[in-house]
Amino acid sequence: MRWPNGVKCLACNSDRITAITAKGKRNKKTGKVGPDRSLYQCKECRFQFTATTGTVYHDTHLPLHKWFLAIALITESKKGISANQLKRALGVQYRTAWYLAHRIRKSMVEANPKKLKGVVEVDETYVGGKQRGWKKKLKNKEVVMGIRERGGDLRLRHIENNSVEELGKQIKEHISPDVKMVVSDEFIAYPAAMISAGIHGTKHETIKHKDKIYVRGDVHTNTVESAFSLFKRGLTGAFHKVSLKHLQRYLDEFEFRFNNRKSPDLFGMTVRRMATVGGMPYAQLIEEHAFTPFIRPK
Ligand SMILES: [Zn+2]
Repeated sequence: MRWPNGVKCLACNSDRITAITAKGKRNKKTGKVGPDRSLYQCKECRFQFTATTGTVYHDTHLPLHKWFLAIALITESKKGISANQLKRALGVQYRTAWYLAHRIRKSMVEANPKKLKGVVEVDETYVGGKQRGWKKKLKNKEVVMGIRERGGDLRLRHIENNSVEELGKQIKEHISPDVKMVVSDEFIAYPAAMISAGIHGTKHETIKHKDKIYVRGDVHTNTVESAFSLFKRGLTGAFHKVSLKHLQRYLDEFEFRFNNRKSPDLFGMTVRRMATVGGMPYAQLIEEHAFTPFIRPK
């Protein structure tokens, strides 16, 4: 998966590679010698490496099959899986499971998400906190903004507050200026937020939920709302208590699953992504990971 066109040297990019067997390393404390290791060696620069060198799979003591099982569980469960469930399924410590889940989620973040076009729905929802009376309802709650292209992708962002500035920033970042129409509800911040993001006039349509009108022809926010309700079911069902610090990671996971819901091989896609994400060049590798390469002196 890492080298679809044949193995290439991580240090010099040469394709003249041989497979070798290296003697197991001796543990300095116990004196025990580990099992022999299968390595690749570059014929040009003699660099030795494996398929996991420099990937997220490398700097972990967890066997690869547990990584793959964790990825399968996370990608195949519709509402997500808690670190506790993962811990039981994999037979690992809670901390390991938690760390694993976060690494997998991190790899799910789209590096260069495309801007949304066509008919786009925006809405915001409030997560967590306690509901204390009608008017104080929004206190202690986190704002999640949802932006969804009808028939297309979803973006979920944990934002600071529901101000014009915050909403406008997200609209600008995620919606193409060529959008056909953006639909929101009558929330007071939207008109100014749209204008600040360059979406003017008839391009912004509003649905008045206050008047109990939820659909006016094409003008509705039903598809973004259905994504919210799916996410919220996942929150209460699987995660119980999501630390607010990590809310965006859960949103990323949900967004990834949602946007790839028609993909026939979400598991393979994620495994592949993790084998390439973080597959960095040699110099950066030793710098960032304090990684000691198995390199022979010339
Ligand atoms: Zn090389």
